[in-house]
Amino acid sequence: MRVHTFSGGGFGQNGYLAVCEPDGEAVVVDPGAAAAGMVRHLEVAGTTPVAILLTHAHLDHIEGIATIRSAFPGVPIHLHPDDRPLYDAAPGQAAAFGHAMPDLPEPDRVLSAGEHITFGACAFEVRHAPGHSPGHVILYAAADGLALVGDVVFAGSIGRTDLPGGDFQTLITSIRREVLTLPAETRLLSGHGEETTVSREAQHNPFLIPHYGGELA
Ligand SMILES: [Zn+2]
Ligand SMILES: [Zn+2]
Repeated sequence: MRVHTFSGGGFGQNGYLAVCEPDGEAVVVDPGAAAAGMVRHLEVAGTTPVAILLTHAHLDHIEGIATIRSAFPGVPIHLHPDDRPLYDAAPGQAAAFGHAMPDLPEPDRVLSAGEHITFGACAFEVRHAPGHSPGHVILYAAADGLALVGDVVFAGSIGRTDLPGGDFQTLITSIRREVLTLPAETRLLSGHGEETTVSREAQHNPFLIPHYGGELA
């Protein structure tokens, strides 16, 4: 699996295009402000993505959905049901911030914990990691040693928990259960900022150090 990063917007959001080699089946993850770049990349490769996977439904991670869907109509949108209220509220929130945002298509499929999303010979395991948002998921590709972690954990930080449906203790519990249990060298590709690894965050992330291996939950 090869993962391409597309960053943009005022929040520096990272969207990802995961491409399964050698045949080139692809999934779009969190299409945000840089979604047009994803479309160009896919068009040059002559690839129609098989799915749009959403780690969660915050505005900056879904504002490019219309761009993807207008280039590739009918590509199914996958979302965890616990983030559906955020998804439905997003266009109204965008308007409140003075952004014009086209109406969002309905999500087509429900993401559930433990499910495997396959494309070509590649697969993501869906891991439910609430706390930043109620329906946040991590997409873990065990065979490739990487995880797309959205806004659960960042290099040196963790997701904010002051937004609707956020909860600090829930987030810390999710990180311990769904991130720190992954193999130490697993690459973590976050919704904002640079990529990191499980071991780097376990050793250096100021929010996680006291929790690693301890009893604190
Ligand atoms: Zn978020
Ligand atoms: Zn974000």
